[in-house]
Amino acid sequence: MKTRVLEKIKHIVKENQMIENPSMKDYTSFKIGGTADLLIEISSFREIEKLIPILKEENIPYYIMGNGTNLLVDDKGFHGVVLRLQEQLNRISIKGTRVIAESGVLLSKLSSIIVDHSLTGFEFGSGIPGTMGGAITMNAGAYDGEMKNIVHSVKVFDGECIRDISCEEMHFGYRTSDVMKKSYIVLEVTMDLKEGNQEEIKAKIADFTERRTSKQPLTMPSAGSTFKRPPGYFAGKLIDDSGLRGMSIGGAQISEKHCGFVVNRGNATSEDIKNLIGIVKKVVYDKFGVLLEEEVKYLGGDDESIC
Ligand SMILES: Cc1cc2nc3c(=O)[nH]c(=O)nc-3n(C[C@H](O)[C@H](O)[C@H](O)COP(=O)(O)OP(=O)(O)OC[C@H]3O[C@@H](n4cnc5c(N)ncnc54)[C@H](O)[C@@H]3O)c2cc1C
Repeated sequence: MKTRVLEKIKHIVKENQMIENPSMKDYTSFKIGGTADLLIEISSFREIEKLIPILKEENIPYYIMGNGTNLLVDDKGFHGVVLRLQEQLNRISIKGTRVIAESGVLLSKLSSIIVDHSLTGFEFGSGIPGTMGGAITMNAGAYDGEMKNIVHSVKVFDGECIRDISCEEMHFGYRTSDVMKKSYIVLEVTMDLKEGNQEEIKAKIADFTERRTSKQPLTMPSAGSTFKRPPGYFAGKLIDDSGLRGMSIGGAQISEKHCGFVVNRGNATSEDIKNLIGIVKKVVYDKFGVLLEEEVKYLGGDDESIC
């Protein structure tokens, strides 16, 4: 990255927020990917407001990430700046049944605080390993719950200014929202929950945790469910019924435990994962006429998706 641009960035964020040439393996749950030119740990909304115009002016590609739990970074890395909204944007405020969380708050952390306040409605989020920003982008959900059901409004940077968008205006759908379509950067989420019984809330979370640990390959690096659920089917079952359970290419494998997960056996490359995904899609389509669509997002290489 040009020194002149780095100098401009240093006027906005502290040096210890900037990591040059980070290995993206260290920032994703897949543990895969080459280096980015620069990663910045964002610590305030103001930094976003100031950085984006500079990156645009200098024609530098940038990508917004949260906890990297739904991300496959290419082996060639990403020639641009990764803005990471995680560790340093983690304030939470709770007044009555209204919960406000900054985009970097982890769902697991929020879940345990919500339990302390005996609020119900967020139990589904307890085992999802991402941030609030990622959860809004993906309309994350599990066990019949999803973000859409509890969001009141979302504070975003829309490329020009910071504004509040109502839940309806976010156009949440199955594992989608307007975030990517409109290149929003999620800064803060306001949610409305309900008063509940703490023991019942804890029991529900314990049930979800048990279902997750017994069925999902949580001890292996992955990005969760690789594919979206096709209408009327389950991706994992289609893959299993296609005889692909346990199939591997290089270090990438269809999980033996849950066929909806592609896992990294330790040394997988992004190429291995993509090749395996390609085969799964072809075999399932040939056998059942169902075209699986990836839930996982790609960053870098030829699939570069840049904000
Ligand atoms: C073991 C495991 C289990 C999982 N279980 C579930 C599950 O039950 N349900 C479910 O829905 N998902 C699940 N996931 C997937 C993942 O945790 C969710 O998609 C989560 O919402 C991603 O959040 P993240 O912060 O990690 O986002 P990232 O992976 O960092 O990013 C995902 C997308 O969101 C965008 N993004 C992230 N933050 C922002 C922001 N602040 N502003 C704008 N865009 C942003 C990124 O650009 C990217 O497009 C699972 C993953 C794993 C590894």
